Formats: sequence, structure tokens, C-alpha cells
Amino acid sequence: MTHRELLVRTHSKEECLNITNMVAEAVSQLGKDEGICLIQVPHTTCGITLNEDADPDVIKDILRSLKNLVPDRGNYDHLEGNSPAHIKTSLVGSSVGVILEGGHLLLGRWQGVFLCEFDGPRQRRVWLKII
Ligand code: ZN
Repeated sequence: MTHRELLVRTHSKEECLNITNMVAEAVSQLGKDEGICLIQVPHTTCGITLNEDADPDVIKDILRSLKNLVPDRGNYDHLEGNSPAHIKTSLVGSSVGVILEGGHLLLGRWQGVFLCEFDGPRQRRVWLKII
């Protein structure tokens, strides 16, 4: 079986958690050398993205900008009341593909893998599959 599930506990209503090391360790346990590592979250109010993991202010700016784009209070129909979280999830996306080479994720010098929570805190699942 090449599919793997990781559990990630989020701690805030909105946050981007750096899960790069967690993903890299799980990928190394899959024992594959080459391919594409698909990293997918099976949720509708939580996304996944690649971005800078050197300066934490980048993630703060992303979250603030998303809040400006998608205000907490707006003309939303969804009765559950968490439309902003659904919309931000679609903007960020629910999966990323990363090249796997020599058994390692091929990420840029400044890149990390971030789970983006928009309706936490909750326990979230991250699926990994090497294709
Ligand atoms: Zn909802």
C-alpha cells in the first residue's frame, strides 16, 4: 500500500502549520525513490499549500490577505456559518504534488508544506500517495 494518512491537530481558528518534516518522514517510510508525492487533505475548510518556511511573517501576511479577500461577515447563504472557511479552502486548494527524487521531496530552498486551517481547532487528516 502506497497511501499513507497523517493526523494533524490544529490549535486555532485559522493557522498555517508547517508539516514539511512530518510529510518528509512519512514519505521516507513509504520506501519509494522516484515519482510524484501527492499531498491531499480530505476536508472542505482546510487546505494545503507550498510557501516560504523561513520567515513566519510570510504566513501571517497570507492569512491576513485571505481575510481581507474573504471577510468574516459577508453576504453568505451557507447556513453553517463557515462560508469564509470554505471559500479560503478553494482559493488555497486541497492538494499539492511534489517531485520525489532519490527518496526525498524536491522542494525549493525556501519552500515548506503548510496545512492551512480555516475552521479550527480540529484534528485534520493528510493523505499521501506516491504516483
Ligand atoms: Zn460549512
